[in-house]
Amino acid sequence: MMEQIERLISEHINKDNPVCAYIYDIEGMKHHVKKMVELMPKQTFLFYAIKANPDKEIIKALLPLVKGFEVASIGELLKVREVSQTAPVLFGGPGKKDYELKAALQENVSYIHIESLLELRRLIILAKELNKYIKVLLRINLKAVELPITNISMGGRPSQFGLDEDKVEEAITLLFAAENTHIQFSGFHFHSLSNNLEAASHVEMIRHYIRRVKEWEQLYALDVQLINVGGGFGVSYEEQFEFNWREFITLLTKSTEFQALEDVPIYFEPGRIIVAEFGYYVTEIIDIKKSYDQFFGIVRGGTHHNRLPASWDHNQPFTIIPQENWSYPFKRPCVHHSKVTIVGELCTPKDQFYKDAFIEKLRVGDIIMFEKSGAYCWTISHHDFLGHPHPDFHYIMEGNNYV
Ligand SMILES: *Cc1c(COP(=O)(O)O)cnc(C)c1O
Repeated sequence: MMEQIERLISEHINKDNPVCAYIYDIEGMKHHVKKMVELMPKQTFLFYAIKANPDKEIIKALLPLVKGFEVASIGELLKVREVSQTAPVLFGGPGKKDYELKAALQENVSYIHIESLLELRRLIILAKELNKYIKVLLRINLKAVELPITNISMGGRPSQFGLDEDKVEEAITLLFAAENTHIQFSGFHFHSLSNNLEAASHVEMIRHYIRRVKEWEQLYALDVQLINVGGGFGVSYEEQFEFNWREFITLLTKSTEFQALEDVPIYFEPGRIIVAEFGYYVTEIIDIKKSYDQFFGIVRGGTHHNRLPASWDHNQPFTIIPQENWSYPFKRPCVHHSKVTIVGELCTPKDQFYKDAFIEKLRVGDIIMFEKSGAYCWTISHHDFLGHPHPDFHYIMEGNNYV
């Protein structure tokens, strides 16, 4: 991997234009997703939540490997449709507009995730007007329950997402009323948190989902055809530690709740765990400064390209790729055996990637490669703040020279 990245950088190096690029390891991602799918029992299906990284090459590469895609806006829906007219799409997200609901009906999405009673009422009318049939899953925000604690949670507490448990009955009443002619109830959807690193607690959460679904099924005499248990599988930005997918699948498959499902399918719709490890943000050190007693390394680029470390207030792991060229007639600035804070080119102290990284050697002109930059990095960033040029994008994949 390093070899390919170094080759890519050396071929694109240009003295007047410091290195600043995202490199996506498409082959690595494909291999990873194939391994994930291989472990999954046949009644479970993997969807990719494209908001983690909607890059077209990523969607294209995943198309033959996943069952389909989860989208949360009409813009995302059209990105998937650019790549495939027929890929199964799950359409979710709060605040869906009428034009989005209509587009979802016209673009033949497989399921709409209902996020509110008003949305359901509007959809019932719009679908009838357009004479389009559609299946829906009710997204549920579970009552305060013991959910695993992570840095992002959308459920188990008051939130803008989904229907509270006490709204289930009203939603079911609307769905089975005579006025509803075009909307078919298919099951339930849950997405309660993001970045859970523990397989065991993730399984406990899903077992709870299944138990609740079974209760509603009995209570309202429903025929549940599908349960979507969301995404939220974590990636650790601190250490070499991965969410244990094998353990997760094993524990889930063994659970009594899963076995009681018989052949009701389970959908997973992760984003982060699919792509996080396969993106690299590479940038050149433009300046090294000592300010009072602290060193700062300033890169070409910043959190306008990769906002994740600022958003989560964490240190983004990195590797230094030394470069030997130095063309100025004066001594190359260099720091040895010191703590260095790595920052970007923006005029704000929030533009920081790593606080006090211990560094053996760093010189102006060296390249910093930020790892784990494939998910929620470029896509969540404020690209035009300060008007610097955008990064380049390169892909390690079959059909180009870098594989
Ligand atoms: C963001 C999101 C996902 C993906 O979450 P990850 O934490 O990236 O796995 C899945 N489902 C819904 C509804 C989402 O909003």
